[in-house]
Amino acid sequence: MPPYSFTRLNTYQTCPRKYKFSYVDRIKDEEESVEFFLGSRVHETMKWLYDDVRNRNIPSLGDVVCDFVGRWDKNWNSSVKIVQAQYGPAHYKNIGLECLIRYYQRYYPFAASSTLDTERWVYAKLVDRNTGEIFALQGLLDRLDRAGDGVYEIHDYKTSRYLPSQAEVDGDMQLSLYEIGLRQQFPDDVKKVDLVWHYMAHEREMRSIRTPEQLGEIEHLTIQTIRAIESDTEFRPIESRLCDWCAYQPLCPAKKHLFETEMLPAEEFLAEEGVGLVNAYTEAKAKRKELETLEEEAKERLVEYARHFGLAAVRGSDIVAKINISVEHKYPDAKDPRRGALEGLLKQLGLWEELTSLNTGNLDKKVAAAAWDETMKDQIREFGQPKESVAVRLVRLKDEGHE
Ligand code: SF4
Repeated sequence: MPPYSFTRLNTYQTCPRKYKFSYVDRIKDEEESVEFFLGSRVHETMKWLYDDVRNRNIPSLGDVVCDFVGRWDKNWNSSVKIVQAQYGPAHYKNIGLECLIRYYQRYYPFAASSTLDTERWVYAKLVDRNTGEIFALQGLLDRLDRAGDGVYEIHDYKTSRYLPSQAEVDGDMQLSLYEIGLRQQFPDDVKKVDLVWHYMAHEREMRSIRTPEQLGEIEHLTIQTIRAIESDTEFRPIESRLCDWCAYQPLCPAKKHLFETEMLPAEEFLAEEGVGLVNAYTEAKAKRKELETLEEEAKERLVEYARHFGLAAVRGSDIVAKINISVEHKYPDAKDPRRGALEGLLKQLGLWEELTSLNTGNLDKKVAAAAWDETMKDQIREFGQPKESVAVRLVRLKDEGHE
C-alpha cells in the first residue's frame, strides 16, 4: 500500500468524489486557483527567508518584498483561476505582500526559536492496535524549530481568509500527524512539541499541544479514514463552498449539469432537456400546493357553513358532504408533569384496576363509554385538554343510504 499523505486524507474527508477523480482515476487537476497560487508564492518566500535565517543571514524587509514580487511575476499566468470575479490579480498579490510584511515586522529578528529545517518531509507509521496492521503516512511540514532542550515547534503557514477557533486547531489532525512522525524519528530527544499555525492574513498565531492520549486517538481516527477510503466503492460527492474552487466540476455528478448549462444562451438553455424537466416538475409541485390551499379554504368555508346552520350533511349537485365535528380530550402523557396527579385521581376513584394500564390515547373513549358516575367523569375530564377534530367525507348521492 502506498503511503498516504495528509493532503490525500484531507481531500477524502472534504469530498470522496474529488478524491476519486484525483487519486483513483488520476485525472490531473490542470486548474490552479489564485488562492493556491498565492499560498504557494508566500510559502516559497517564507522558506527562502527561514533558510537564510537558519544561516544567520537575516534578509531585510525590502529583500523579502522583492523576493515575493519576483516569484509572483515570474510564475503568474493567465490560466490561474480567479473565482471571485470582483477581484483582479493585484488584489491577491497585495494580500501576499501584506501577509509577509506583517509577519516580518512581528517576528523580526526571528530569534524566539532556532530553525532546524524548512519544508521537511515527515514519515509516520500508524499501527492498528487490534490487528497489528501498519499504515504509512507522509507529509511536508512548513518549518521545524527547536525552542529549547527537547522542545520542538511545528510551524504551518496559512494565507486563507478563514480563521478557525481555538477548538478547531485543538482538533486539527494534520500537524498532529506530523508530531507523531517527529516523535517516531527522534524518540529519545523529543520531550514536547508545540503546534503553531500562522494565520498570516489575520496576523494571528495560534498554538496547541497534544497529549499522548490525543495522539493515540488521532492515530486511531486516521486508520479509520484509511480503511473507509479502501472500502469505498461509491465515493459520494460532498458539496460545500469549496466546490467553487474544484476543477472537477465538469465531471462531478453534483455539478456537471450546472456547469454545462451555465454558459448556454437563453434559448438553448430553456430548450435543454434537463432544464425543461426540472421546470416542469417545479411547476407541477407549485400547482399541487396551490390546489391544496384551495381545497383547505373550500373545506373551511363548508365547515363554517355547516356549523352556522347546525348541519351534519350538505348537499352538492350529485354529492353529499358529510361533516363530522367532534371534540376529544387529550390526557397528560408519560412526560407530562400532571400525569402523576391523574393516576392518583384514578386510584382514589377506585378505577385504576379497571383500566389495567393507563392509555391516555383512548382514555377519552373509555370515559365516554363507561357507566361511571358523571361527577367522577367530570373530575377525570378536568385533566383533558379539549381538541376539536373535523372530518369531511364526500359521498355520491346515488350511494347515499347504501354505505
Ligand atoms: S465539485 Fe464539489 S462535490 Fe464535485 S467533486 Fe468537486 S468538491 Fe466534490
